[in-house]
Amino acid sequence: MRIGFGYDSHRFDPSRPLILGGIRIPAASGLAGHSDADAVAHAIIDALLGAAAAGDIGTHFPPDDPRWKDADSMHLLEQAVRVLGGRDYRVVNVDVTVVCERPRIGSHARAMQERLAKAMGLRATQVSIKAKTNEGLGWIGAAEGLAACAVALIEEGGAADGAGGGPPGPGRTLAG
Ligand code: MG
Repeated sequence: MRIGFGYDSHRFDPSRPLILGGIRIPAASGLAGHSDADAVAHAIIDALLGAAAAGDIGTHFPPDDPRWKDADSMHLLEQAVRVLGGRDYRVVNVDVTVVCERPRIGSHARAMQERLAKAMGLRATQVSIKAKTNEGLGWIGAAEGLAACAVALIEEGGAADGAGGGPPGPGRTLAG
């Protein structure tokens, strides 16, 4: 078993849609970034890669690479799980905290869990999304942007499980 941690933050950009955990969330402002700026997905990717000591999101998906312009971060997440699979690791579970003053994220947590689980080839019960505000403090409290933190547990012996295959089916062995 190995554990990894990931953090990401993005500034709000009113010209873009808000996409978090692969879900489009109704909001006055989206997030600035080279890809779709899905900070939840990016924090998870860094947690997964960190658990495998396999670099970080920037080394696998450089922000100056035009391939990742407006990229769907669910595809990046699928690829990160494939990187782990290539090293014979599979994901056990992922836990995320989103810190965002507005909009309120909590009511979208379930949809995010299901979308993220699908991208990682997991059950929704293997993915946790928690949301909180920053109690009005600092740049998050001023709604200049938001942040996400993620931890991921991985274990050896997962190459056969692959990535992005949707919900588990017959012959797949998953924890939880
Ligand atoms: Mg990011």
